[in-house]
Amino acid sequence: MDYQSILNEIAEEIAPLLNDGKVANYIPALAQVKPNQFAMTLTLFDGTQHSIGQSDTLFSIQSISKVFTFTLALKFFSTDLYKRISREPSGNPFNSLVQLEYEHGKPRNPFINAGAIIVTDTLINHFGSCELACKDILEFIREISDDLSINSNDVVSTSEMEHGHRNLALANLMKSFNNLDNKVEDVVSTYFKHCALEMNTKMLSRSMLYLANHGSDPITKQCFITPSQAKRINAVMLTCGHYDASGDFAFRVGLPGKSGVGGGIVAVVPKLMGIAVWSPGLNAQGNSLVGTKALELFTDKTGLSIF
Ligand code: GLU
Repeated sequence: MDYQSILNEIAEEIAPLLNDGKVANYIPALAQVKPNQFAMTLTLFDGTQHSIGQSDTLFSIQSISKVFTFTLALKFFSTDLYKRISREPSGNPFNSLVQLEYEHGKPRNPFINAGAIIVTDTLINHFGSCELACKDILEFIREISDDLSINSNDVVSTSEMEHGHRNLALANLMKSFNNLDNKVEDVVSTYFKHCALEMNTKMLSRSMLYLANHGSDPITKQCFITPSQAKRINAVMLTCGHYDASGDFAFRVGLPGKSGVGGGIVAVVPKLMGIAVWSPGLNAQGNSLVGTKALELFTDKTGLSIF
């Protein structure tokens, strides 16, 4: 398939939409990002990459980092993890407090903020401290992306901590239900640090290969998780990867995916490739407006959805 021509067509078709989305402004450090930027990269199993747009530009991966922390937590805690988080779509906004109250502090899934905060808490327990958790999460992401240059942006994580009242409220609520082991501020600041990791679409699409290949990197041959765990992560991405627009994403794109409020989206084409797309303008549910459209066009044009 001529992937490069398909990407060129997509870039042309999304161009009129580039000013339609709204950049996340509840994190002041992200509010300054220009909305009308776009990049998309496909990484195949032999490492070949096809890109369009600003595929070298680093951006804040935000909630995409939740895929990596969920992977680590599953690796260390296996099914015990589900004693503390569920794996059902929430049908609610990513930072909602309401459901958490009536479900007694047990978050619906690892991809809404509350669930990701629990995952971070388990990783702090596993690694022994916040500092070690930050270091080891970063090392793991560098490993699966095969890229040692990845780093977290302190300006973004500090900005989010200064304005993180809602995430702190989620963590406090879970603490009140005895579902948080470590100190609220420590867990939330560790969570913000992994959200503030910066990557570009080349790195992110590369980082998805282990999920497209039953848990093992098809290039380095390194095995990160079991095939059954990879299946489950993909399933949760499909059903919960886009908050209260997860159904819409599955309907339009038909691939397991995960978005972040930095405007990035990763998607997995099983047994074939990793995809990443970036455009900072978001839709009402906090997912990249152009990014979702680009992925929809991609699966329509190639037939490469899972359905
Ligand atoms: N750090 C962001 C928050 O907690 C992540 C949200 C997202 O990317 O969807 O609000």
